[in-house]
Amino acid sequence: MNTNKHAAIMSCEFFPPRTEAGVEKLLTTQQTLNDTFQPSYYSVTFGAGGTTRDSTLEIVKLLVKKNINVAPHISCIGSSKQQLSDLLEHYKALGITRLVTLRGDIPDSGETTKELSYANELVSFIRETSGENFTIEVAAYPEYHPESKTPQSDFEHFKNKVAAGANGAITQYFYNIDAYMRFMDNCEKNNISIPVTPGIMPITNYASLTRFSDTCGAEIPRWIRKQLEAYADDKESLQAFGLDVVSNLCNQLLEQGAPGLHFYTLNQSDSTNAIWKNLSL
Ligand code: FAD
Repeated sequence: MNTNKHAAIMSCEFFPPRTEAGVEKLLTTQQTLNDTFQPSYYSVTFGAGGTTRDSTLEIVKLLVKKNINVAPHISCIGSSKQQLSDLLEHYKALGITRLVTLRGDIPDSGETTKELSYANELVSFIRETSGENFTIEVAAYPEYHPESKTPQSDFEHFKNKVAAGANGAITQYFYNIDAYMRFMDNCEKNNISIPVTPGIMPITNYASLTRFSDTCGAEIPRWIRKQLEAYADDKESLQAFGLDVVSNLCNQLLEQGAPGLHFYTLNQSDSTNAIWKNLSL
């Protein structure tokens, strides 16, 4: 694993805003993040079932126009092969060189195209249609994907994405470093050497964090949950505690050789910037 902390690759994730005001705010957020630590790239999510296919493309175009290094997310579950190859052509024409490649969350309607069912199939499809044009990042789950039947099968499915041509992975967020270290041990045992970048979720709001963690299968350890519950409406103490916990996690991850950090910013800059300032880089 990489032990040179200075070479760490920092990236930030955005979602496509729904309003003009949201777009303006996003540009300010990007500027503030850039002024603080110049992330290597910004990724833009793709709504469940392809629901934001157009708005993802629009915000990607806007960021590219501003010379910002963007990595669009692309997911297969709600899009036809034709829609995906059209999108890949758009991205190629825009000069995009990195994609975060996913199956995607199953939409509430349960509707899927059934053309490409899993992320490894999308990785293969991108390699078949676009060769080596894109650096492909895939998702990794140190605490296992919520739909996985067994830890072993989940890891096998991760291996399939690497075999299909993924160049790197970004993890679901976690607060338990042992889960990540074990995942990395498993990679080593299986001769997987692609960088696996920890996804970092700042802690700023207890209710939304627990709601989201329940659906995506990320565990909030009891000692963190109890302390957050105890702060209840004391937002200032909750955020100070969250900052301390997540900054420690990031520092430990970098010390243990994580190749970088990917921040789930939720289109906000304050907490990501505050964590970055606490890193012992
Ligand atoms: P896969 O790797 O295909 O795995 C999905 C599940 O299927 C796993 O349980 C796996 O074990 C299982 N599986 C895989 N292959 C097979 C097989 N052949 N047979 C049986 N089971 C199999 N969602 C969005 O909608 N938009 C986004 O922009 C987005 N960005 C994300 C970014 C990151 C960094 C991460 C970690 C997640 C993101 N997600 C996003 C969420 C992601 O789409 C969901 O977690 C989704 O449910 C799984 O996507 P995947 O690419 O990991 O799927």
